Amino acid sequence: MSRWKDRYRNDNDFKREHNQQGKKWRLNNSEKVKETARKIKQSNRLLVINHYSKENKCVCCGESNIKFLTIDHINNNGAEHRKQIKNDHLAGWLVRNNYPEGFQILCWNCNEGKKIYKICPHKGDTYV
Ligand SMILES: [Zn+2]
Ligand SMILES: [Zn+2]
Repeated sequence: MSRWKDRYRNDNDFKREHNQQGKKWRLNNSEKVKETARKIKQSNRLLVINHYSKENKCVCCGESNIKFLTIDHINNNGAEHRKQIKNDHLAGWLVRNNYPEGFQILCWNCNEGKKIYKICPHKGDTYV
């Protein structure tokens, strides 16, 4: 236990002061904070896309415009998984967890197609 942490835990005034300073800094620098968060999210997204798809393409149709690409839960358990990781950003979570299996890169079209028809309509006819 570091001294700083000790003090943080035991000294409520210190804690309050510290939190207020942090809040003030974040208020004065909210654009900076947002910008940094956005950059981290974006670079995590690129890392994740490149990990699951070496060519940065939709594994179904080959869409290569990175703006169309999404991270897909192969087993369609996305809603459940998102609940598990709370509001954590999925790409950041994947990076921190060393890119677990069960994910793939799809474009929006294929992702939605898969959600609605269970398999993407590119892959064959399903009920409509
Ligand atoms: Zn696609
Ligand atoms: Zn498709």
